[in-house]
Amino acid sequence: MELIKRVPKGIKYVTDEPMSRHTTFRTGGPADLMLLPSSVAELRGALAFLRDEGVTPFILGNGSNLLVSDRGIRGVVIKIGEGMDGMIADGENVICGAGAYLTRLCAFAAENSLSGAEALYGIPGSVGGAIYMNAGAYGSEIKDVLVSVDYIKPDGASGTLRGVDGYGYRCSPFTDGDRIITSAVFAFKKGDRAAIESKMAEIKTRRADKQPLNYPSAGSVFKRPDGYYASALIDQAGLKGRTVGGACVSEKHAGFIVNKGGATTGDILRLIDIVREKVMSDSGVMLETEVRFVGEDQNG
Ligand SMILES: Cc1cc2nc3c(=O)[nH]c(=O)nc-3n(C[C@H](O)[C@H](O)[C@H](O)COP(=O)(O)OP(=O)(O)OC[C@H]3O[C@@H](n4cnc5c(N)ncnc54)[C@H](O)[C@@H]3O)c2cc1C
Repeated sequence: MELIKRVPKGIKYVTDEPMSRHTTFRTGGPADLMLLPSSVAELRGALAFLRDEGVTPFILGNGSNLLVSDRGIRGVVIKIGEGMDGMIADGENVICGAGAYLTRLCAFAAENSLSGAEALYGIPGSVGGAIYMNAGAYGSEIKDVLVSVDYIKPDGASGTLRGVDGYGYRCSPFTDGDRIITSAVFAFKKGDRAAIESKMAEIKTRRADKQPLNYPSAGSVFKRPDGYYASALIDQAGLKGRTVGGACVSEKHAGFIVNKGGATTGDILRLIDIVREKVMSDSGVMLETEVRFVGEDQNG
């Protein structure tokens, strides 16, 4: 990739970077070039460079909702993580960088006796990825505590999106758009630190009891269909334990596909197809994936 030689000085990057290092499924082939901006200014510089080169980047958070092609990504990935992960409390508000871990934001809120994000504790995404997906659990969604989101676009324009219009079940005004989330303001309520921490500990236990956290995965593979639970439909279809290569429908939580060792993205995709077909023929419900696919065509 010719443009690698022209990456501006000061922007950290890696080449031929195995995406399996950046996805919680631990699968995915190499990205030609991954830029690792450590500030909004560096991100802005990276975008200006890519604009000149005529390249549109893929934005990566913590890779916890992604299936990356085994053939990798022919192009540029920008990872929003370290360096863009600062957070500060301002009264009952917290201003947080998009690259911070969501779980770290929850812990930071608790340290400041701020209540509202307890149920999100343990979701292994970045704050940017969680806003993009409107991540949620146990009756809460990130939008419930969101005030505003700062973003920048590949053309260099930046702005602030206030309020929570357009957020829904696992979607946000950012989903499938080109705005790159750089930071957000959250509003919490003053509470009792011990009570907040105890609620977070309870959530952690519930997750560990129900979810196969000892294997790589991307959490629930499928969205909740209206009026059903995907995991119940998959369980009723007798698919728990169904395996393709190293990919397996979890025995513990049928909504999860886990990487039992050596799984490829191809294995996971084939298993997803099997699950969708069997659930469709058994219950007439077509499951939609929550996990997002990115990269080269698997069969190309
Ligand atoms: C064990 C486990 C449990 C999980 N439990 C839950 C759960 O309870 N609830 C839930 O909702 N999810 C859950 N997930 C899924 C996942 O953690 C969330 O969807 C999370 O919000 C994804 O964030 P991420 O940073 O990993 O995003 P990524 O997977 O890196 O990216 C997801 C999408 O967001 C986009 N994106 C990421 N960052 C930005 C940014 N800064 N600006 C613009 N776009 C961006 C990417 O381009 C991509 O399209 C779970 C996953 C695992 C592995």
